[in-house]
Amino acid sequence: MRKFQGIPVAPGVAIGPAFWRIGADALPLPRRLRKREIDGEIERFQEALTAARAELDGVANRAGMSDAVGSIAAGHREFLKDPTLVGEIEGAIRNGRTDADYSVAVVFRRWIGRFRALEDDFFRQRYVDLVDLERRVMRHLRREHKIRQPTPDSPAILLATDLTPSETADLDRKSVVGFATEQGGATSHTAIVAKSLGIPAVCGLGSLVDEVPASSTLIVDGQQGLLVVDPDAETLEYYRDLKRRLKRRFRVLKRMAELPAETPDGWPVGVEANIEFPLEVDEAVRNGADGIGLYRTEFLYADAHALPDEAAHLAAYREALDRLKGRPLTIRTFDFGADKFAEELGMRPEPNPYLGCRSLRYSFARPELFRTQLRALLRAAAEGQIRVMFPMISSVSEFRRARRILDQIQEELRRERVPYGTGLRIGAMIEIPSAAIAADLVAKEADFFSIGTNDLTQYTLAVDRGNERVAALFRPSNPGILRLLRGVLLEGERANIPVGVCGEMAAERAYTLLLLGLGIRHFSVAPSVVPEVKRTVRSVTRQLAREIADHALALATPEEVDAYLGDEADRLLGAGVGV
Ligand code: PEP
Ligand code: MG
Repeated sequence: MRKFQGIPVAPGVAIGPAFWRIGADALPLPRRLRKREIDGEIERFQEALTAARAELDGVANRAGMSDAVGSIAAGHREFLKDPTLVGEIEGAIRNGRTDADYSVAVVFRRWIGRFRALEDDFFRQRYVDLVDLERRVMRHLRREHKIRQPTPDSPAILLATDLTPSETADLDRKSVVGFATEQGGATSHTAIVAKSLGIPAVCGLGSLVDEVPASSTLIVDGQQGLLVVDPDAETLEYYRDLKRRLKRRFRVLKRMAELPAETPDGWPVGVEANIEFPLEVDEAVRNGADGIGLYRTEFLYADAHALPDEAAHLAAYREALDRLKGRPLTIRTFDFGADKFAEELGMRPEPNPYLGCRSLRYSFARPELFRTQLRALLRAAAEGQIRVMFPMISSVSEFRRARRILDQIQEELRRERVPYGTGLRIGAMIEIPSAAIAADLVAKEADFFSIGTNDLTQYTLAVDRGNERVAALFRPSNPGILRLLRGVLLEGERANIPVGVCGEMAAERAYTLLLLGLGIRHFSVAPSVVPEVKRTVRSVTRQLAREIADHALALATPEEVDAYLGDEADRLLGAGVGV
C-alpha cells in the first residue's frame, strides 16, 4: 500500500481499479488496408494535411509573422510541407498497407524519436512541435473538433496528467467514479466541474506515471486529498465505512433543503447555486437553493464543442428558467480564456493567459460573440427572472462599456420588435483587486456585486489557482483578502446594493461562518453544498458570527486565521464527518 498526498478538489470517496489516460498519445490500432482502399486512404490523409495547413495559415496570419506565435505556426506549416515526412506517411499507407491514422502516428513517432535523440538542445526540444502537429493532423483525419479521449468500459478511477474543464465535463459518471491528476489546484475550473458533477477528485499529486501501475486498486479520498494505491484490508474497510458515513451525512444534511437559511436570531440569508449546465438546476432546487447565483455560460461550449449561436444560448437559458420555476437566474457572460477552452477556441497562446485576453476582455475582442450572447440573454429576460453579471471587471470603464453594448442590443431588439426583458439587474463580479479596492466607484454603477473569491485570491496573492506547486499559498484567509472583502462589503452597504460571494470560499464551512460575520447575505455555491451552507447559517447567531469575523480580522497570518476558524467551525458544527 502507498499513499500520495495531493489537493482535495471534490469531496467524497471513490474506490476502484486504475484507468490511465495518457492523453491522445496512445498509438491507434492499425487497420490493414485492402488494395482498393489505398488510394482513398491517401486522399483522406492529403485532405487532413490540407486542412491542418489551412488552420496553421489562419493562426500565422492572425498573429502576424513577427509575433512568436505566428512564426511557430509558420514553422509548423513548413513541417507539414516537408516532402520526406509526407512521403514517409504515404509510403506507410501504400507499402505498409496500414490506415492513415496508424501511419500518421507511426511516422510521427519515428520523427519524434529522431528529434529526441539529437545532441543539440535547441533542436532536441523541437520534438514537442511534432507531438503537437501529430495531434493536429490526427484531429483533422478523424474530423473531430477536438481529440476524443479514451474512457474506461466499467467503473474505474481515472488517472491523468491533467484534465481540461471540458474533458472533465465530458466524463461519464457511470464509468469514472473518481479521478486523480498529477497537476491542477483546488479552484481550477477542472476542480469546479468535478465538484458539480459529484465526482470525488484529487489534483496536484505530482508525477504518478511510474508509481501507479495500471493494474492497481485505488482509493480517491476527496476529503483529505489522498490517493491510496493498493490499500491493505484495514484501509479498505476504513474507506468503505467512511463512504457509508458520508452518504448518511448527506442524507441528514438534505433535510436542511426544506428549511430557510436564517440565523437563530432571525437574520435571513440567500443561498443560491453555481451551475455550469442547465441540467444542474434540478439538483440545486432539490437541495433548497433560492435560485442560481452564477451560471458559467462558457460551458455552453463544452456541451456542443462549438460556439453557441443565439438560438443555442436562448435554448439553454430557457431550459434553466424552466427548471427554476420562477426562481432567479444569474447569467455570467462568457469567461473564456486561461484554463477555459482557450485551445479549443483557437485562441492565440499567451505567455500569461490568466493575465491576458480572458473573460470580458475576450468578449470585447469578439464583439459578435458577445452581442449574440447578450441578445439571447435579453430575449430570455422577457420570459423569466434574469440578472446579468460581467466577469473580470478591473475598472468602471469596462463595466460601462459592457453596459453600453447591452443598451445598444436592447435598442436593436426594440427596433426589430423582438420581445426582451427590461429592468434587468446588472452586476459586477468583484474578482480583480483593483475593482475591490475601488469598490466605491463600481458600486455607483452596478446593481449588485458578486465576489469571485477564486480569482480575487489568485490575483491578490499572485498565486495561480490551478498550479499545484503553489497550492499551499492559495489561502482566501490571507489577511489581505479579508480586508479587501470587508472593504467591498462596506462599499456595497454604503451604496445600498446586495453583495454576494460566488467563489469556492463560500462553500467551506469555516469561511461561510467568516463571510456571514463580515455581513455577506448572499451565498452561491455548488448545488451539492447548498444544504451545508444552510446548516452553517442556522447554527450561528449573527452576533456570534460577527465576533468570529472580528477576531479573525485581528489575526496576522493566514495560518492563524485558518486554525481559529477551523476550531470555531468544529465547535459550532461538530468535527469530522459527523452532523
Ligand atoms: C471566481 O473567480 O471566484 C468565480 C466565481 O468565477 P470562476 O471560478 O468561474 O472564475
Ligand atoms: Mg472568476
